[in-house]
Amino acid sequence: MNLSLVIPVFNEQDNLPLLFEALYPTMNSLGKTWEAIFVDDGSRDNSLSILKEYAEKDPEHVRVVSFRRNFGQTAAIAAGLDYSEGEIIILLDADMQNDPEDIPMLLAKLDEGYDLVSGWRKNRKDDALTRNFPSMLANKLISWVTGVELHDYGCTLKAYRRPVLEGFRLYGEMHRFIPVFANSVGARITEVVVNHHPRRFGKTKYGLERTAKVILDLFTVKFLVSYSSKPIYLFGGAGGLLMIISAIIMGYLFFRRIFLLIGVTGSPLFQTSVMFFILGFQSMLMGLIAELLVRTYHESQRKPTYTVRTKINLDEND
Ligand code: UDP
Ligand code: MG
Repeated sequence: MNLSLVIPVFNEQDNLPLLFEALYPTMNSLGKTWEAIFVDDGSRDNSLSILKEYAEKDPEHVRVVSFRRNFGQTAAIAAGLDYSEGEIIILLDADMQNDPEDIPMLLAKLDEGYDLVSGWRKNRKDDALTRNFPSMLANKLISWVTGVELHDYGCTLKAYRRPVLEGFRLYGEMHRFIPVFANSVGARITEVVVNHHPRRFGKTKYGLERTAKVILDLFTVKFLVSYSSKPIYLFGGAGGLLMIISAIIMGYLFFRRIFLLIGVTGSPLFQTSVMFFILGFQSMLMGLIAELLVRTYHESQRKPTYTVRTKINLDEND
């Protein structure tokens, strides 16, 4: 199997026929073997029965996974990835806001030697105030914090080589952070401008609150990719800093006591110094506990702390 499309579907009954109509000419023109995995995320309209119809008509290409209830777009994407078999995976929304005609362009970019090609909705057709503007800020923040510079993390339309999708699980709203995880396993990443259309049928499932979730997820992602194999660097670093500040304050208090004869315990600086010392010490201990957890994490899954691109004169399974 060359190519898997993974498409999350939640209440998109009116968009699905349009999607199939657009998908077939594009996919058949590629001359590759392909499958389209539709993950029905607990839709409460006719989406599932429409998908069933298409799956019966074309069992060679159309596959359907249906959830018992709505688990969210990220879970739907994770399931689609689990069931997919292609060497290349393309994620796509079911609502026709993404354009299936962009798929050949993404594939051409992969052929240039990239492992991940991200779509960029340069002319995004969503609500400016509640979606586009917060999303622009979020993209800047994510790029700065993670060091993976992309204009549009939120665009579902992206193409991936399978190896860069392995080795991590998706939680919360984290599908948008796949490029960050991929970067941490050494993926070569680029982006291309893709089409974006306003929603014609149904309505968006998201609003301003999602930006808040994305920012919270960013904390987790940053911690996972930068410190999950060395948490003591973070906790110990923070703890050490607090203890240094504590020591400076204490030094100043003793200086005043000795040379200016001002009492040490009367000043609120004294309490501050003691508090910083305790916090710093606690943080170091947390770092040590986190180090233990990391070891159980890696060793219970026999997960190496590195990823290999190629091997020469070595067995594939070694
Ligand atoms: N979706 C899903 N589960 C959800 C919410 C959304 O599978 O709980 C799907 C939805 O059907 C669509 C895609 O995820 O195919 C993107 O959703 P939406 O268009 O609402 O997001 P937006 O484009 O407004 O960011
Ligand atoms: Mg949409």
